[in-house]
Amino acid sequence: MTTPHHNATSQHSKDLIAEGYQYYVPNYKPREMILSHGKGSTVWDIDGNDYMDLSAGIAVNSLGHEHPALVKALTDQAKKTCHPSNIFSPEPPIKLAHALVETSGFAKRVFFCNSGAEANEAAIKLIRKWAADQGRPPEKRNIITFKGSFHGRTLTTVTATAQPKYQEGFEPLPGGFIYCEKFNDIEALEALLGDHIAAIMFETVQGEGGILPATVEFMEYVRKACDKIGALMVTDAVQCGMGRTGKLWGHQYANVVPDVLTTAKALGCGFPIGAMLVGEKVENVLQFGSHGSTFGGNPLAASVALVALEHINSPAIMNNVAERSKQLVSALETMGQKYGMFELVRGRGLMIGAVLKEQWHGKAGDITEIARQHGVLILVAGPNVLRFLPPLNITEAELAEGLKRVDAALSAYLTA
Ligand SMILES: *Cc1c(COP(=O)(O)O)cnc(C)c1O
Repeated sequence: MTTPHHNATSQHSKDLIAEGYQYYVPNYKPREMILSHGKGSTVWDIDGNDYMDLSAGIAVNSLGHEHPALVKALTDQAKKTCHPSNIFSPEPPIKLAHALVETSGFAKRVFFCNSGAEANEAAIKLIRKWAADQGRPPEKRNIITFKGSFHGRTLTTVTATAQPKYQEGFEPLPGGFIYCEKFNDIEALEALLGDHIAAIMFETVQGEGGILPATVEFMEYVRKACDKIGALMVTDAVQCGMGRTGKLWGHQYANVVPDVLTTAKALGCGFPIGAMLVGEKVENVLQFGSHGSTFGGNPLAASVALVALEHINSPAIMNNVAERSKQLVSALETMGQKYGMFELVRGRGLMIGAVLKEQWHGKAGDITEIARQHGVLILVAGPNVLRFLPPLNITEAELAEGLKRVDAALSAYLTA
């Protein structure tokens, strides 16, 4: 394969891109291509260019594109019913809830929704209700979140997200959140604790904030602190869950379990679904009528997610994540030495960030675009970090090809 290996952008592509510019609300920055289809870890645009997908639809397509078992689950269910509603309950979400509880090691019950933000909204409502049920007044129902976090784009989850760039202009914001200025800093967190705190919520690997893993020590401290002050430990596993780190859930790197865990992205491996898993302490907080979602637990989504969970939660996938992680990290470290661009390479499993040296701060976006032109899809995590989230079943050869293209892109970027 030649690199760069690009066919010219066709008039049809240009027209579609222009149509998108005209008719979309301009909240996304479009790329100069239109994706058509994918297979395994490769995707193609409508002009016939192929790309190695080291982004997996932002940690969504964890079993790659067009996985036969997922396609079968989806089409089989589509022939039965797409949506009987939560009033007349279908079978697939029951089976999925059962499987999530069985594999979780802590959860007793599950609530289904359609996205990560909605799963976090459910968790936030549960925290408030749990505290209210104990007779705690609203000013004693605060939730601690961390600098660099990302919890979603709804008004409340954007407030939970302790990054001003996501909040500015959307004030007034809902109240009841307290930000800890340093992630992984036990002293900074300790200073905020008290009986006015109802929960501590964090990502076990911060994603959008720069691929920053919570240390084992920190996770264990949060658990102890929550027990001490009578607060809930809530892990947002929307990006780092479903096997992404090499364990089914990120907290499993430490000897702790959360009270509440949220998931979405890879749960449906491409079909939209979110879920909140709740442990014993809070399993009965959301009583009949207290919360709901029209599409939550939709049988198409649940059928796909059940198959996704069975495939991902397997020794074959977990071993592949461990092996491919070594391959990815060592290749990036080698490139880091060769080009002198990386401060460090960090992350867990197949959630890896290459942190750019100061000289290239703010350039992560430009580099991902050069990478795309060299036939490989990678992401940013903030302006200074290149983010790699390949499918969990990517093969050694596919990853090697993707990394070869990243290398060529970095070389081209530096000589441009
Ligand atoms: C993506 C993400 C969300 C939001 O999920 P949506 O499905 O986009 O609403 C929440 N938390 C984390 C950690 C995420 O990465």
